[in-house]
Amino acid sequence: MRGQGRGGFRQASALEATLHACNEAATWAASVAFEKEARRPLELRKHTYAEIRVRWGLGAQAAQHAIKKTCDAYTTLKANLRAGRYGRPGSRRHARASGRPVVFRSQAAQPYDDRMLSWQHQARTVSIWTTAGRLKNVAFTGQAGQLEVLAAHRQGKSDLVFQGGTWFLIATCEIAEAAPNSHPVGLLGVDLGIVNIAATSDGARHCGRRINRKREQDRNLRSKLQKKHTKSAKRRAKRYAGKEARRNKDINHKISKRIVAEAERTGRGIALETLTGIRERARLRKPQRVKIHSWPFAQLGSFIVYKAKRARVPVVYVDPACTSQECSQCHHTARGNRPAQAVFSCRVCGFVEHADHNASHNIRQRGWMVWVCGAQSTAPELTLIA
Ligand SMILES: [Zn+2]
Repeated sequence: MRGQGRGGFRQASALEATLHACNEAATWAASVAFEKEARRPLELRKHTYAEIRVRWGLGAQAAQHAIKKTCDAYTTLKANLRAGRYGRPGSRRHARASGRPVVFRSQAAQPYDDRMLSWQHQARTVSIWTTAGRLKNVAFTGQAGQLEVLAAHRQGKSDLVFQGGTWFLIATCEIAEAAPNSHPVGLLGVDLGIVNIAATSDGARHCGRRINRKREQDRNLRSKLQKKHTKSAKRRAKRYAGKEARRNKDINHKISKRIVAEAERTGRGIALETLTGIRERARLRKPQRVKIHSWPFAQLGSFIVYKAKRARVPVVYVDPACTSQECSQCHHTARGNRPAQAVFSCRVCGFVEHADHNASHNIRQRGWMVWVCGAQSTAPELTLIA
């Protein structure tokens, strides 16, 4: 959301006051829930609803949501405690987490339903409830694709969030999941790597050289900062880490989008290696090992999978063993087939190819075997060979 000029400032302060009030009310409700051991909405409402409405000026819906949010926080805490995320029962961390009421940050997200928030997609504005009354014509923005999805599929609650100086509405969109294309004409093999972040069996290479160089610079800077042990150095290190994560995410979005679009356009599925293989396969010197463990492969893989799902492109996983050492022509497999990092050169048939493309051909071929076997048995769906 972005306000303009003076009106924008007034809108922002009304939203800020609202978010603070909702979170203060929720924190108070959490202390009541803790004292009275009332962790269910119906019960907690009895103890808190009336007072929340009067003391913090929350509307009926906002008060209900604050109470529900409190109960949800306790449910999450309980699940985390049970899963051992705060250590064993009796440990200091466990006692600290379970021995005091939940507290909400003054800027924690607040849920809004359709009675408190209405969207005017054409005008690109919302009308939103605040403690200072209803704000109308609050402008919002988003990427073109997101706005389309929002207008067509938004449903249920949205969260109001203030983060890094910007107001966000995080809307829930319900998109019916269509069955993937059950008759792909073939597969696009995708090899995920370090030098090339992704290489496809069509010959596309999504190069990581520039990214890797930038990441190395960032990492060096960060480790220098961390050695300083001062508060400001720590803060800067944290900021760089956040920046790097955002850049990686952006790159992964772009690469996955291109790969899925290509598969969709040509009526094919996608073959990927199971992710564990990428790390195990690479035998690298130590400095490079840092690179491979920290590159968000899992994220790129998951982006490809969810974008493929949306585009009804089937995804097949293959066993990653030796995909980089096997000749995609004669299938002779030997470490000697890789005279250099980027070069594949078969010792038996003499086939020469960029190493990542050779690997992507192997992945495509293995994927097709998996697909055909799956299709011939019962389920022509996703098959996982671990
Ligand atoms: Zn060969």
